[in-house]
Amino acid sequence: MATYDVTDRSAIVTGAGSGIGRAIAALLAENGAAVLVADLDRGAAEVVTKEIVAAGGTAEAFVGDVADPEVAVAAVAAAEALAPLRIAVNNAGIGGAAAPVGEYPIDSWRKVIDVNLNAVFYGMRAQIPAIAGNGGGAIVNMASVLGSVGIAGSSAYVTSKHGLLGLTKNAALEHAAQQVRVTAVGPGFISTPLLEANLDAATQQALADKHAAGRLGTPEEVAALVAFLASDAASFITGSYHLVDGGYAAQ
Ligand code: NAP
Repeated sequence: MATYDVTDRSAIVTGAGSGIGRAIAALLAENGAAVLVADLDRGAAEVVTKEIVAAGGTAEAFVGDVADPEVAVAAVAAAEALAPLRIAVNNAGIGGAAAPVGEYPIDSWRKVIDVNLNAVFYGMRAQIPAIAGNGGGAIVNMASVLGSVGIAGSSAYVTSKHGLLGLTKNAALEHAAQQVRVTAVGPGFISTPLLEANLDAATQQALADKHAAGRLGTPEEVAALVAFLASDAASFITGSYHLVDGGYAAQ
């Protein structure tokens, strides 16, 4: 696998205790970043941190709810204590209720928009001044293939991920002069605890069949794209949305 130089900097990865975030944290650490393993779940954050340190990397666990703006500020301070912050991967996200718009529960709508969209704004609002102050860097926001197409029953999730693309574009335009690149990633359906907890085996197979590749993706396949976008190798890439979807959206 290609390696991308992300040395001499820290990286915040939210939702790093599980699934895609866990793979991103491991790959960034393998490539030289000091990783702040941020998650709601203390036990999960500590397990991932120990794995990274055991593999020879640098990491620290950080516990907090991304939907709290003060947590975003505290995460930046914790990352800066490791090394100058130059990478942030705003990855934490939730699925929400499954219901049509006409019946969608209001509390679930608010929670999904809070965690998947508002929290990325809070995160970037704290991260951008620090990254710019360190000479620049990269922010990668975790959208979904459902940032560009809908899927029945998931209006809050689909709306949050579409909104995230607009936020990504604006942040990129506003902060390019400060050498802060901002991109979004759109995974197809990936085999993670989020998917496994919410969908039975038959539904997972039906979803797999919707990908030209004929299968679900892996967290490591998403992490490879994120590590590239976060690294200096992607120096001319900003404001853009990158699919890693096994051909889901090509049809
Ligand atoms: P996952 O396995 O559930 O991992 C998400 C992690 O985020 C969990 O450790 C979770 O902690 C944490 N988290 C949830 N809410 C949080 C909050 N408010 N503050 C801090 N941490 C929080 O999910 P995943 O499948 O890896 O998904 C990661 C991202 O990829 C999400 O943004 C998701 O929308 C996106 N994505 C996933 C897929 C897919 O098919 N899996 C496809 C496209 C995009 P707890 O376990 O304690 O809740």
